[in-house]
Amino acid sequence: MSDITVFVARRILTMDPGRPTASAIAVRDGRILSVGTIESMQPWLRRYSHTIDETFADLVLLPGFIDPHTHLAQSGTYMFLNYLGPIPSPAPDRINPALPTRDAVMARLHELHAEIRPASEPLLAWGFDPGMQGGHLHRDELDLISRERPVAILSYAPHFVYANSAMLKLLGADESLRMHGVGRDADGRLNGRFIEMEALNYALAPLRGHFVGKDKQALGLRRMAQVAQHAGVTTTADMLFGARNFESEWRLQNSVVSDPAFPLRMVLVPYEGAIRKRFAEDAAACVADLEARATDKLRFHGVKFFSDGSYPAMSLRVRPPGYLDGGNGLRGDIPWDQLAERMLPFWKAGVQIHAHANGDEAIDAVLNALAKLQSIHPRFDHRLTIEHYCISTPDQARRLKALGGLASVNCYFVHFRSLIHSEQAFGPDRAEATARLGLLERKGVTFALHSDFSLVVAPLDPLLSVWIAVNRLAADGVTVQAPGERIGVERALRAVTIDAAYVLGMEREIGSLEVGKFADFSVLSDDPTAVDRSAIRDLRVWGTVLGGHPLPGV
Ligand SMILES: [Zn+2]
Repeated sequence: MSDITVFVARRILTMDPGRPTASAIAVRDGRILSVGTIESMQPWLRRYSHTIDETFADLVLLPGFIDPHTHLAQSGTYMFLNYLGPIPSPAPDRINPALPTRDAVMARLHELHAEIRPASEPLLAWGFDPGMQGGHLHRDELDLISRERPVAILSYAPHFVYANSAMLKLLGADESLRMHGVGRDADGRLNGRFIEMEALNYALAPLRGHFVGKDKQALGLRRMAQVAQHAGVTTTADMLFGARNFESEWRLQNSVVSDPAFPLRMVLVPYEGAIRKRFAEDAAACVADLEARATDKLRFHGVKFFSDGSYPAMSLRVRPPGYLDGGNGLRGDIPWDQLAERMLPFWKAGVQIHAHANGDEAIDAVLNALAKLQSIHPRFDHRLTIEHYCISTPDQARRLKALGGLASVNCYFVHFRSLIHSEQAFGPDRAEATARLGLLERKGVTFALHSDFSLVVAPLDPLLSVWIAVNRLAADGVTVQAPGERIGVERALRAVTIDAAYVLGMEREIGSLEVGKFADFSVLSDDPTAVDRSAIRDLRVWGTVLGGHPLPGV
């Protein structure tokens, strides 16, 4: 047994409702030995040698924040591509500046076209956001950059690839192409848009060599983990593991995350399409086996399904009356009437299902699948989680509760996107009611908050998401969006700590400060439950503690 370190702090919020606050926390071998006061833990301290650490004497400790849905490895790869996004974004050694308008995007593309040699080399860029940069791109517009050089642009939320005519030629794509997610003009002509996973993979296939190799992938993953750690995060889940290559992604994660210097615990949630390809009929049993391979820092958990598109890229599915322009988004690759059948082997094997559903029509599809699973093979505590839950209705919160499901919600859009999408795609009613957390709270549904970083044009910052959840202030700084959907500070903090742990099936190990759990803390300048709720976003994150080791943020 090693020595005990006792951290004293100005205040400790435990997120254990029976023992909510403390002033000292004792740690041994990376785990919590006791939480309370120096006096209360004397039965331990009298028996064993210990040191008192006063590093946090003026600071506030919370359980380490958990972001239960990110894409750090994937975004670490995108970081090396030419950047077109409308917000600043991390690059390997700096921050990429924002391109705020469509004109700025076109100017940057002309610059890249002039720079990149030879002229036959494809031009690949990432980060275009149709919501903030003037609507979806069209092949004719990209032909203005070049008619000879293939140009392919990946949207910031990577649900679209926009291709020029030379790129379509490189793909061998013409009007006879039959594939889910291939965009066409009203007259049937290909418009250069490839939407959602199957079409995206098709459009990017000839460009695989333009993505970085494994050394830079490791660098990208470390850089993104640093962003998370600076925001107070100690655990995150990669919610689309294996989508490109199961084995190479595993080698990357295993080598990078197991490095003692890597500042996060990482949970890998395999993409169903990938493990079906990898393990065929045995997929469900293999996922259960993978889950047994856990180490303290890296583990597999559950399985990920898709049912529709993106909120910021405007490809999610809504109920009638559809989008403002009379259109609608796109379902995922699995037809909705086959969702339950594809989920069933995992459901029967006891594997937790995470189902991406952004719009209310897609949420209906997942709820219908869940109802079918419950009728075929009833389960308690299955924790099927609807990922994102961005545009929902009151009846759906009630049904989610009745069927025993959970929600992992992206509430950043309430602040950053609700005014944009009042005017574009979803219209005022749905934009205002984005991320209905108040309803989930009143219906008794357990929910987490996540960032989806860095694939949705929003930052990774759990404290900021707490601020948004309790204030629901739009980007104009004045409009309160759907005030009845605001939640209290304590509940919002649960959604980035203990309830996020529950959504990942890790509530016995992380998410609150209790004896026996990992000694993972977020270290803040002040107590978010004691400051004015409008000031929560201004608290400073000192850094984190992972397994008892302090990791200063800057
Ligand atoms: Zn995601």
